[in-house]
Amino acid sequence: MASSMKDLSKLCVHTLTTKPWGIEACVKNYSEVGIYGITIWRNVLENKNLNEVRALLDDYSMEVVSLCRGGFFPSVDKGKRDSAIEDNLIAIEQAAAVGAPLIVLVCGADGRQSLEISREQITEGILRILPAAKSTGVKLSIEPLHPMYAGDRSAINTIKQANDMAEMINSDLVGVAVDVYHLWWDDTLKAEIKRCADHDHLFAFHVCDWNVPTTDFLNDRGLMGDGCINISEIRGWVEDAGFKGFNEVEIFSDKYWATDQKLYLEKIKQAYLTKT
Ligand code: ZN
Repeated sequence: MASSMKDLSKLCVHTLTTKPWGIEACVKNYSEVGIYGITIWRNVLENKNLNEVRALLDDYSMEVVSLCRGGFFPSVDKGKRDSAIEDNLIAIEQAAAVGAPLIVLVCGADGRQSLEISREQITEGILRILPAAKSTGVKLSIEPLHPMYAGDRSAINTIKQANDMAEMINSDLVGVAVDVYHLWWDDTLKAEIKRCADHDHLFAFHVCDWNVPTTDFLNDRGLMGDGCINISEIRGWVEDAGFKGFNEVEIFSDKYWATDQKLYLEKIKQAYLTKT
């Protein structure tokens, strides 16, 4: 067990974890139970005045940990690659507007071309948006996704690939998001977490659990303690490597979304304090 304090000070919840709630309900309900870290998914910003969102966040003393999500760079279609750049530039503007220091990149893949070509296009895409990141100070984190998503969601499937890419790009604004759901199975995880932190590339840490059996590859994530991931051990590796950021609860779950979200938030708190 790591030296981490077992309190709520480093707990962050992703707005998509409580998907039935809009941004106002997330902010009010999280802060009411002592959760002040929030990662904002862009769907809750649709049709919102971002200055008002920022004022709301400030009124409730919320700390924005990151904005989800940018990425989806690769495509066989150049027009689609260009529109992905446009969308990522909008995400950077949104992040700056709501005070998010970081954007999580779900990097993308296109099953009509090789993973190698998709990875080249991801690198190219990150390099194209880097000037905008620099001018706003918004950081970008490459999130490796479990290999089951290699066909359509991400050609970056291991933390090693993410570390390699971040080191090749070599910018203090480009790092890696470690999500236990995607990486728990990797026998190089501990070593690659250390490598990532040693290069100052460890930007974010996401937690949830892997249900056994998993019934849906998108929306059957477990609450910490529900499944088989050694979450607190991995958290220990992350903290021993020097990470001092938030532990972000990111759970996509049709099962939990169908329940009372206030009761669910209490379960998240308890699972965080005892199983994370
Ligand atoms: Zn994640």
